Amino acid sequence: MVDPAFTRLSASEDIFRALLEATNSAIIFVGTDGVVSYANRGVRDFFGLEPSSLIGRQRAEFVRGELMHLAAAPESLAARLLLPEDGSREMVVEDITLVRPTHRILERYSAPVGKADGTLHGRIDVFSDVTVGRTLQRNKDDFLSLVSHELKTPVTSIKGYAQLLRRRAEREHPPESTTVAYDVIERQAHKMQELIDVLLDLSRLETGKLALQLEVFDLRALVERVAALVRLTAEEHSIAVDLPAHPVWLRGDERRIEQVVTNLLSNSIRFSPGGGTTRVGMIPAHDRVKIIVADEGIGISPEAQQHIFERFYRAVDLSESTGMGIGLYITRGIVEQHGGTIEVDSQAGQGATFTVTLPLDGAGTMPP
Ligand code: ADP
Repeated sequence: MVDPAFTRLSASEDIFRALLEATNSAIIFVGTDGVVSYANRGVRDFFGLEPSSLIGRQRAEFVRGELMHLAAAPESLAARLLLPEDGSREMVVEDITLVRPTHRILERYSAPVGKADGTLHGRIDVFSDVTVGRTLQRNKDDFLSLVSHELKTPVTSIKGYAQLLRRRAEREHPPESTTVAYDVIERQAHKMQELIDVLLDLSRLETGKLALQLEVFDLRALVERVAALVRLTAEEHSIAVDLPAHPVWLRGDERRIEQVVTNLLSNSIRFSPGGGTTRVGMIPAHDRVKIIVADEGIGISPEAQQHIFERFYRAVDLSESTGMGIGLYITRGIVEQHGGTIEVDSQAGQGATFTVTLPLDGAGTMPP
């Protein structure tokens, strides 16, 4: 008579096998010795390999054999698929591109499989077809890049010619309505230019093309300059700066760091509708410098703090706020490209404090 425990066990194994077969992914399980002990039906659909033909073989053998020739750069695909090494506890999520028999982008999720006692069974590799999603994303990125580039030229010339016409008209003492009209055209063209610049930055960040122009500059002077500029546009607010006595030499992209400081300062003003003081501090240490921007505005709830650095996220809808929710996303992108971090500390209704930490890269307080 068959042991009922055995019957239950084999029914349970049937169910788990059926589940793995029913997924729309290719799944390969390799033991810590590198030998394949399971491959599902998806392996046939994705790689054209018979699942049973993989069982008992070393992963290196079929990766370097049948599999690598599906890619345009076989050697590089093989090198990636053979990592992490057998017995590693590392997890990897990456895209791989196959060109044979058709072009496909697969997301590879590779994770160690642990036993209850903490040792390893081996590694599972799950491949999912993400061609459609990745292609849509690329098309969207290309479209954003194309549109923002194409809009830049006409807007720049509208702005330039409006300025020229206004200057010409001013010499002839035109009616006030004419100068007002020129002002409006210039102001609106300027706003459009700013929006296009934000879209261009967004597109560069998304496609990894936000290249930094590195040079050594005085960060203290930069913060002082930005604070003076923002002060001019914020009459209801005061900006108090507390900066070190000496220059702080930073190796970075001066224009981009200026954008970061401008963004934080202008946010501190925009989100303090009742006025108040923004305090800007700077703390240099031997290998890093902190820039701190603290306001007394509306603050940010703990829930919103989780999201403010994401694209298009806006925690509040102030009528005077015309932002797109991209500023902090770009700010964080620039800071991270410099090897730095940005953090927020706030309580709703009690102001917000943003701290940017940038590595000093040995430049520090020494002149360049
Ligand atoms: P935008 O200002 O264009 O909406 P940002 O990316 O600069 O986009 O900011 C995202 C959101 O974070 C803002 O909409 C606002 O809700 C919140 N935020 C940013 N800075 C502050 C601040 N200093 N005080 C309160 N809220 C802020």
